[in-house]
Amino acid sequence: MKKYNFNAGPSILPQEVIKQTAEAVLDFEGEGLSILEISHRAKYFQPVVDEAEALMKELLGVPEGYRVLFLGGGASLQFCMVPFNMLEKKAAYLNTGVWSKKAIKEAKGFGEVVEVAASTNSIPSGYEIPQDADYFHITTNNTIFGTEISEHKLQEIYAKKGNVPLVADMSSDILSRPIDISKFDIVYGGAQKNIAPAGVTFVIIKESCLGKVSRYIPTMLNYQTHIDNGSMFNTPPVLPIYTALLNLRWLKAHGGIEWINRRNQEKADLLYKCLDQSKLFMPTIADREDRSRMNICFVFKPGYEELQDEFFKFATQRGMVGIKGHRLVGGFRASCYNAMDVEGVQALVECIKEFENSKI
Ligand SMILES: *Cc1c(COP(=O)(O)O)cnc(C)c1O
Repeated sequence: MKKYNFNAGPSILPQEVIKQTAEAVLDFEGEGLSILEISHRAKYFQPVVDEAEALMKELLGVPEGYRVLFLGGGASLQFCMVPFNMLEKKAAYLNTGVWSKKAIKEAKGFGEVVEVAASTNSIPSGYEIPQDADYFHITTNNTIFGTEISEHKLQEIYAKKGNVPLVADMSSDILSRPIDISKFDIVYGGAQKNIAPAGVTFVIIKESCLGKVSRYIPTMLNYQTHIDNGSMFNTPPVLPIYTALLNLRWLKAHGGIEWINRRNQEKADLLYKCLDQSKLFMPTIADREDRSRMNICFVFKPGYEELQDEFFKFATQRGMVGIKGHRLVGGFRASCYNAMDVEGVQALVECIKEFENSKI
């Protein structure tokens, strides 16, 4: 039976990228060696990192003066690396849920943290950003509750941040839509949602934002180390970086960000429309502007909650994988990352409609 992978992360990758990775595990680009056994110092691997960085820059329109790093440690390590490298006195954070909260917790170990606004079920607006902050941190997509900062609300942030450096955790919506990277000093994320298998973390960093804190920064936690060594200070996650490269090639070959942005919109429109019209289900996020296109959360309407387990079984029998909601939210979550095609979302919509017809 065909499986439709709606896992929240690690998550779906394009089939051809998985196949090409499997081929490289057996024979890396005709070298007679597996990608698993080559040296990262060898002539084989430097071109992989270089092309991956170049493609990230090209696809995202990263301006001059920025570097793209591929590191270990996950987005969770960035929660501490960002303040370690950037926070001298005070930082401002927008709290939009679990991941923002974890980032805030780490920053508090380094200086004063101002939480400018907090909400898990909507994206706040109308707050002030303290102009003396060392940086302002946002989480562009709230993977767990299913909210996302719209382009309109990003524009608001750009307009009121003044000269405060902007830092973003984009783990779960990187490369899913056009973003003006020039407005940011640091963009980071775990790559296991939209780019690669688990094990690699991307950091897009403006070189001029560094060198402004007075504390000692341990070598491995210092962005400058990784910039100076082109992500090769220590052994990088070779296999996930290679798969990231294959995925970036896939995205470029299909038409890049404009193409994927249209496809992601089409998928989200399909599923939200179905949920808005449903008699049994409803989306958890009421405000359309704040709804995530990547993580679409929904629950049964009041009075129908006891159907939860039955629907879960029904959907599983039809090949739906990973649609159980996060334990903090309950209900269901369909993660519709870049590699999920329209047909997959269509199959979920059919499944929801079929279940509904059997009940009403
Ligand atoms: C998944 C996720 C993280 C955690 O990433 P790790 O690589 O597991 O540390 C952080 N932030 C957001 C927004 C996420 O979706």
